[in-house]
Amino acid sequence: MRKFVYQFSEGSKDMKNLLGGKGANLAEMTNIGLPVPPGFIISTDACNDYTTGNKHLSEEIFEEVKIHLSKLETQTGKVFGSTENPLLVSVRSGAPFSMPGMMDTVLNLGLNDSAARGLADLTGDARSAYDSYRRFIQMFGDVVFEIPSYQFEQALSRIKKANNYLLDTELTADDLTELIDAYKLIFSQATGNDFPQNPLEQLRLAIIAVFDSWMNPRAVIYRRLHDIDASLGTAVNIQAMVFGNTGESSGTGITFTRNPSTGEKEVFGEFLLNAQGEDVVAGIRTPEPISALQMRMPMVYNELLKTCELLENHYLDMQDIEFTIEKGKLYVLQTRSGKRTAKAAIQTAVDFVHEGKITREEAIMRVETKQLHQLLHPAFHESALKNGHVIASGLPASPGAATGQIYFEAKEAVQAAERGISVILVRNETSPEDIEGMARSNAILTAHGGMTSHAAVVARGMGKCCIAGCSELTINEKEKTITLKTGEKLYEGDYLSLDGSSGNIYLGEIALTEASIGGHFDELMGWADAAKKLMIRVNADTPTDFKKALLFGAEGIGLCRTEHMFFDEKRIPYVRQMILAESLKERESVLTILKEMQKADFSELFRIAEGRSVNIRLLDPPLHEFLPKTDHEIEQLAQDMNRTVPQIRKRIEALAEANPMLGHRGCRLAITFPEIYRMQAEAIMESAVIVHDEGISVHPEIMIPLIATKSELSYIKKEIKQVIHAIFDRERMVLPYDIGTMIEIPRACVTADEIAEEAQFFSFGTNDLTQLTYGFSRDDATKFLADYYEKDILAKDPFMTIDKAGVGALVEMAVTRGRMTHEHLKMGVCGEHGGDPDSIQFFHQLGLTYVSCSPYRVPIARLAAAQAALGTKQLVATL
Ligand code: ADP
Ligand code: MG
Ligand code: MG
Repeated sequence: MRKFVYQFSEGSKDMKNLLGGKGANLAEMTNIGLPVPPGFIISTDACNDYTTGNKHLSEEIFEEVKIHLSKLETQTGKVFGSTENPLLVSVRSGAPFSMPGMMDTVLNLGLNDSAARGLADLTGDARSAYDSYRRFIQMFGDVVFEIPSYQFEQALSRIKKANNYLLDTELTADDLTELIDAYKLIFSQATGNDFPQNPLEQLRLAIIAVFDSWMNPRAVIYRRLHDIDASLGTAVNIQAMVFGNTGESSGTGITFTRNPSTGEKEVFGEFLLNAQGEDVVAGIRTPEPISALQMRMPMVYNELLKTCELLENHYLDMQDIEFTIEKGKLYVLQTRSGKRTAKAAIQTAVDFVHEGKITREEAIMRVETKQLHQLLHPAFHESALKNGHVIASGLPASPGAATGQIYFEAKEAVQAAERGISVILVRNETSPEDIEGMARSNAILTAHGGMTSHAAVVARGMGKCCIAGCSELTINEKEKTITLKTGEKLYEGDYLSLDGSSGNIYLGEIALTEASIGGHFDELMGWADAAKKLMIRVNADTPTDFKKALLFGAEGIGLCRTEHMFFDEKRIPYVRQMILAESLKERESVLTILKEMQKADFSELFRIAEGRSVNIRLLDPPLHEFLPKTDHEIEQLAQDMNRTVPQIRKRIEALAEANPMLGHRGCRLAITFPEIYRMQAEAIMESAVIVHDEGISVHPEIMIPLIATKSELSYIKKEIKQVIHAIFDRERMVLPYDIGTMIEIPRACVTADEIAEEAQFFSFGTNDLTQLTYGFSRDDATKFLADYYEKDILAKDPFMTIDKAGVGALVEMAVTRGRMTHEHLKMGVCGEHGGDPDSIQFFHQLGLTYVSCSPYRVPIARLAAAQAALGTKQLVATL
């Protein structure tokens, strides 16, 4: 017989795949002697059995559940379904990977009319008994039958209003009985059935609901955002209830063993007295900071501190712990690695090394590359901030600054973001349905909820600015307005600026500046640099980008796109003249002007490089992008070139291409007009000479784009070498330089051994290589790739993460064949993929020399290269 159900004592933290993260950790905590209410786990195997078995919970599994239920009765001395001494349980989902808020939990299961009465008699505390029952009806109705929770909340508010109560805790036992009747009515109206009184039936339905929730749309979106495999399934935890809603010596809370925003070594969290379950995160009442527990229940507080220390040392990571206090006794209900900001991730990892808990290598593996974006995020411009007007402040829930237009609905936020608007999502509180809207917004602002509210936790995970619990603002989601304390109103589309590090909210737009990095970040990056094998270069065309990249740790330029230098407003008329010139003479006279401009560009880059490699790609213009479009531009050009407008138009027509992407670009242009590349090679070498004479060493790499055959390269190389040698003769000196090629056409991969006879280096242009291998145009693919993901035809965007089986195999072939000709051929990557951690791992395995990426991704690439070198793939699960 297969085993589907496990006692907590039968599991361990290493059984996440089978028992889910929550269950595995409940098991681990039970086994190290922490006060965990007893229970058992229905494994993910059971979930898969249910899903593959046409959503049928097999009798075999349910029988096994019953066996464990009777063990639980023995352990607790209570009886499931009894009227006198009822055993109540929580039914808690738990996937192998932490999915906060994605799956739903039902508390107080086992209650029915008579058990609630029995419990009230037994404990002499009718209020708590009925409070538990009304919570159960609501949660069960919500989770199992999807009855919208606002229906229950309305009934609750009605009773509170009628009695002039502010807080739920003011409800008396009689009020609660009335509420229970109202809830039962809501339930039967929504489902057409009475609220189920049979506890076993309640349990069966709840288990099924957890299994079903694995496939609910929120969970599906979350898994897609976080690359979690859908076939894992979720486990179900059945656990004896403890009660935080039994008066002022009871309560419930959440604590982190370190500050998850800053990483500082201090216990951080919140709790609520006389509360149950998710009251803390639901933002109904404002929770108290954990430090206040010291005053209220010093013994419990000390035990909690000890528990934090014990768990952190046991797991050797910062923990996020859920606890409940029942009549002065502490119970631990969950522990997991705490979600944290990038800043906190780095600080805790580095501190753990200094505290001797983990090695440097472990620290490197622990920081999620994707998260680093956060650190490189903008802050407000100090001078701009001086004029900023603070209109309110809330809790600094997730750091970073943001400015944008306010939207009140997740859906509208998504639509606005699609129109290119910088969005700030404004809600009273967020819920899992808002995930996509949150993902597409620049920042999140809520009026309710604390530092551990849904909005705060999710925003931190996403590395987004968030201000939570800003109670000074009155947010009306229906009317789409924010009312300030002054009575002033803000409407959809108005601008706000948020500082997630201070909690301040400013009216209007405030200019942002780049984030500063240093301290712990530099220390960790230093360790990463020591571990990595790949060099990290930057794709930069301007001195500003290059300088920024050097601050981020770039080791040279891997791609300088010279056509980007041509886009400059002052230059474009000359570029147009160059393209439209009808004779060599005409073209050469414009080229002389362009050459001087290019020399200024290149010498500046060489100076900044201070001897580091600078790879310059010769012109690869999509011609149509440069041609004049408006009448005014055409007239201007006609005037500059001494032509008539019709003459210019005719020439433009002659140059029009059916498919510019596959057209007269790259080296093909230089085959027709070699003078263009000759000019660029001259500009490069002449600036190299100038900078060399200034005492700075220079070693330019000249890169020829879009090579398909060796003979193209031979021809162009000969032209270029001629001008370079002329410069050397004239200057009576020689400088080192390399001429190589971009490998971006499948044919070049296949004939890489031949091409290597002419090339001193290869640089894989994986963007074009992906386009040409798939035959997808990158600009058009966005229109249909969404369907590919939806229909599971493609798992990932091949322009983001290298398609190992196809494009990657071509790269590998080129590497192997290139090395057949030159064992030590210098090879790198300069496509988007050069900054993508998964792709970097692949390039590391191929033993390339470097990857090159945009400035902001340089630190990510450094860390990813180190993680690749250290071997094991990082586990998202640990964070
Ligand atoms: P989530 O995965 O959303 O965190 P949990 O299963 O952890 O959901 O349940 C949410 C909350 O419900 C817990 O933090 C805890 O406060 C409460 N809870 C769960 N099980 C029990 C229990 N056996 N006794 C008391 N409270 C419980
Ligand atoms: Mg939840
Ligand atoms: Mg929990």
